[in-house]
Amino acid sequence: MPWILKKKCIACKKCVKRCPVDAISMSKSKAVIDDHTCIFCGKCVKVCPVHAILGEREKVKVDVESNIKSFLKKMKKHNGSATNNRILKGELKQLERQKKIIQGTIRELKRFKP
Ligand code: SF4
Ligand code: SF4
Repeated sequence: MPWILKKKCIACKKCVKRCPVDAISMSKSKAVIDDHTCIFCGKCVKVCPVHAILGEREKVKVDVESNIKSFLKKMKKHNGSATNNRILKGELKQLERQKKIIQGTIRELKRFKP
């Protein structure tokens, strides 16, 4: 799903007009996407003049960077390497669990394919 960088949005409303399913509205002069209505066509990403809307690949990159940043912050708090190892193990365990949940959900959703 596309993702809007609110700081960059200049409220031109081009994305609002371009969306084929009216999934984008304006709130406090910033574009907002309704996750439940969006059909992931990507048209809004292409039309934004200031590149305020991120596509799937860019969004993944931003999320990975943010995860690493918060992980490093946590590590910095605990200087001891034994604690850091535990934190790393815990993080990896949590991510593996999330991965299993997502993979399981994808598997189940695919059963609904016509
Ligand atoms: S991806 Fe398509 S459906 Fe979703 S908000 Fe953008 S233009 Fe609308
Ligand atoms: S096209 Fe870009 S700048 Fe214009 S309203 Fe949409 S997100 Fe904001």
